[in-house]
Amino acid sequence: MAVRDTIFGKIIRREIPADIVYETEEILAFKDTQPQAPVHVLVVPKEQFPNIGKMDDPLLMGKLMQGCVAVAQSLGLVESGYRIVINSGVQAGQTVLHVHAHVLGGRQFLWPPG
Ligand code: AMP
Repeated sequence: MAVRDTIFGKIIRREIPADIVYETEEILAFKDTQPQAPVHVLVVPKEQFPNIGKMDDPLLMGKLMQGCVAVAQSLGLVESGYRIVINSGVQAGQTVLHVHAHVLGGRQFLWPPG
């Protein structure tokens, strides 16, 4: 599959700045520039897949989730609770075509989501 570059690719390659909070060989996590909660971090695989459905590597998918949990732990969200969100496609509101999980915390969330 052709790799389509996005703003997250530029962050991963350190071409543009980001507030990085967690990194492994395969995963990067950085603060969202338009936070929707007191804690709002994006967790991404360094390899580019346009959405979760195209992510054909289950091990990497697991590492993405591990990254989310590690971020929640390191930012002190475990006791209060947190939300992990992956938007896929237009109706879900996905705007960046590089799969990413949002880790949100620090306030009460509603269900169902808007
Ligand atoms: P989504 O709408 O699920 O595709 O989420 C994309 C997220 O990326 C949004 O919450 C944006 O605020 C965030 N975002 C866009 N550009 C940047 C950037 N340069 N650094 C950090 N977050 C960004």
